[in-house]
Amino acid sequence: ATAVLLRRRPEGEPRPDDFEVVHRPVPDPGAGTLRLETLWLSLDPYMRGRMSAGRSYAKPVDLGDVMAGQAVCRVESSRHPDWAPGTLVLAGCGWCSASLSDGTGLVRLDPAPAPVTAALGVLGMPGMTAYAGLAEIGRPKAGETVVVAAATGPVGATVGQIAKLRGCRAVGIAGGPDKCRLLVEHFGFDAAVDHRAPDFAERLTAACPGGIDVYFENVGGAVWEAVLPLLNDFARVPVCGLVAQYNATDLPPGPNRVPEVMRAVLSRRLEIRGFIVWDFAHQQDNFRREVGGWLAEGRMATLEHRVSGLENAPAALVDLLAGRNTGKVVVKVAAD
Ligand code: NDP
Repeated sequence: ATAVLLRRRPEGEPRPDDFEVVHRPVPDPGAGTLRLETLWLSLDPYMRGRMSAGRSYAKPVDLGDVMAGQAVCRVESSRHPDWAPGTLVLAGCGWCSASLSDGTGLVRLDPAPAPVTAALGVLGMPGMTAYAGLAEIGRPKAGETVVVAAATGPVGATVGQIAKLRGCRAVGIAGGPDKCRLLVEHFGFDAAVDHRAPDFAERLTAACPGGIDVYFENVGGAVWEAVLPLLNDFARVPVCGLVAQYNATDLPPGPNRVPEVMRAVLSRRLEIRGFIVWDFAHQQDNFRREVGGWLAEGRMATLEHRVSGLENAPAALVDLLAGRNTGKVVVKVAAD
């Protein structure tokens, strides 16, 4: 079997050779265990955090260990009474083509809502992040303006589409004209703004004539700076991710902006709150019912960025962090 190990902790932007691809046997399952064959591996921005040793909300991957990650797997062989061969599951098996499990933490997948990779995107962790962060912190009301960046990704695209379904004006921010076109034409956003355009801040202002009521924060950095002056009184800011900062090794140059941000928080009564998806596990049933329903009714669009071969996962993660993906990144490990 193939596995991808973390070889070195990156300084700044990670490189494919921070990883090592190895081949090693995975034994047949013993009593009470099963052997999983990985079909699709999910790549997600949080993996950058797992590569570093600094303080975070989750433990880093140890050097020499298999990189952490979730995957859609098939039970290949089993000596576990609850798991029959052929069953499709969501597993936290990491970056490997085969693994052993005692069944702990496996989630049975229904192959019906095809493609099965939706379990890694809109119907999985990123979709739940969007749904719950918006419901609990964003609390959008019909007629309000909701802005989200990394908007073609699985979190951002879900945020924007839910905002539309709740009667809001949805403005997406993405890198480049092609992604911006997708936001309007494929995902149905009301407006799209390219954060790489030199006049990005002016364009964002023009796209939000009534200001911003909910800013779903996925990126931080220059995008956040352009958003801050546009936030209305009582605006809500779910802080979900800061992908523009994940590779940073230093604070950006320039004046200390903390006093300005704090003044805005006070005078405009802003609500800025960070969250991690599992904080809102109580939203899981609502998420399945609503997002599952919208998808089944064809009221939500999805977009996948498919990469072939586990050995290409390291380069694909580097690309994801630099915005060279368009849609949810999944790595095809074996034919399904
Ligand atoms: P995406 O597929 O959207 O990938 C990341 C995207 O970020 C890139 O495609 C790129 O899009 C954008 N990006 C990268 N660098 C910059 C930059 N400097 N400025 C602006 N945009 C940039 O990822 P996901 O949808 O999976 O995740 C979105 C966010 O949600 C991430 O921050 C992630 O960490 C966070 N998250 C948080 C969770 C939580 O529990 N709090 C759970 C899951 C995700 P573009 O080319 O359009 O700029």
